[in-house]
Amino acid sequence: MSIRLRLTLWYSALLTAVIALFGVVVWGVLALTLVSQIDQTLNKTAVQVLRVSAVVPINDLSIITLPQLELFEADGLYIEVLTADGVLNVASQNLGNFDRPLDSSSLNQKSATLRDVSVGGAHLRVLTQPITTNGKLLGYLQVAASLRDVDQAESVLVLVLVAVGALSVIASAGLISLTAGRALRPLDMVTEAALNITRADDLSQRVPFVGSHTDEMGRLVTAFNATLERLERLFNSQRRFLADVSHELRTPLTAIRGNVDLLRRMNPLPDNRESLDAIQIEVERMARLVGDLLMLAQAESGNLPLARSVVELDTLLLDVYRQARVLAGDKVAVVIGEEDQARASGDRDKLKQVLLNLVSNGIKYTPAGGRITLGLACVNGWARFTVADTGVGIPPEDLPHVFERFYRVDKSRTRAAGNGTAPGGAGLGLSIAKWIAQAHGGRLEVSSRLGAGSVFSLWLPLLATRPVSKPAPVPARPE
Ligand code: ADP
Repeated sequence: MSIRLRLTLWYSALLTAVIALFGVVVWGVLALTLVSQIDQTLNKTAVQVLRVSAVVPINDLSIITLPQLELFEADGLYIEVLTADGVLNVASQNLGNFDRPLDSSSLNQKSATLRDVSVGGAHLRVLTQPITTNGKLLGYLQVAASLRDVDQAESVLVLVLVAVGALSVIASAGLISLTAGRALRPLDMVTEAALNITRADDLSQRVPFVGSHTDEMGRLVTAFNATLERLERLFNSQRRFLADVSHELRTPLTAIRGNVDLLRRMNPLPDNRESLDAIQIEVERMARLVGDLLMLAQAESGNLPLARSVVELDTLLLDVYRQARVLAGDKVAVVIGEEDQARASGDRDKLKQVLLNLVSNGIKYTPAGGRITLGLACVNGWARFTVADTGVGIPPEDLPHVFERFYRVDKSRTRAAGNGTAPGGAGLGLSIAKWIAQAHGGRLEVSSRLGAGSVFSLWLPLLATRPVSKPAPVPARPE
């Protein structure tokens, strides 16, 4: 759940609780005030009725003389006088034929009682006042008032509170979501920038920020941008160092090569010839490494020029095939599998370099007697070169890393390969190949089974599709 949603939910829940509490308090105060007003009226009326009543004792009997109860009807009051047994004695006229006590459950109480009762569908507040003389219970006076107005006021209040409360919660949830979204946007920007940097491998990007640089977000963005700047400077100087060193190493290497050639031509002793061969092999290996390093440094700093011309991919495949056969010699067989006609825009030499690199890896990591199959297919607007071998394969845990710089699956295995027909590399070939593929708007993929072989696929966007011979499954788009 996002922070924004969490903030909105927490705030809305809190506001709902506050409004509900407020509503209950207001409702309680209103009900209490209205009911206590009614209670006052009931008490006052009971006092008045009893004040103007008279009790006349005749022998054992006590006769109560009551005032005219209709006088009190104007206030919307209902009055009943009951005997000590609870039998109706007199009632105000507005009670009509109703001849039961208004509140029978309070009849046995010794003091005045106030209760809410429902009588024939009417909600009433009833005061039951015992009538006594000289400590003797003569009967009960019950005075009642309708609670209809109080109930109505309470329902209206509940309705208003619910409506206003719901509206406030919705409005404030919208507002908090908007405000939180705005406040947290720089975080999204930082995330987006970090993802872009990873995706495009470009440290020159910065997080755009237009807010105050002194608040929390402003300081976060400033700190993040400062870190990026420092990292960029560090990487740039590392690249420059790499480029300078590899550039500087080329001259002495050329000099060594020249001198080895010179010594060879001077007919050295047979013992020295072996040493010269060893020097030559190591110099060649070093020259290749220096060349790869220089190329990678140039590629990463954007200084590697790429030609943009129409490349006949099928012709390129044949070209690579011919050269692969020479490279493979008798060690492994090289064959062509599927071959479509296709054209792409790009640098023919660099593309050839990628394919030859894949082929020479195939030869390097395939035991004698194995096979390398080259292929070219058109798949949904993409050209797919494949270089498949029946070699040692790559362990699954190493597969995601083989395109990283200086990554070698198993150093002993790579060196062992170096003792054969081709020297073991430094783990730069595939990272250069991947860069070239991406610079052409394509990508390089690998799938492999340990002990069974590997398939490297180079995907390139097609320039114009000529008749396609074999449809292939839809490929995922390159990043
Ligand atoms: P290197 O020059 O060391 O071969 P690469 O970048 O070309 O460097 O390859 C990186 C690693 O990937 C190699 O060390 C090797 O272990 C592995 N690898 C590359 N191609 C193959 C292949 N066809 N079969 C098995 N392993 C391979």
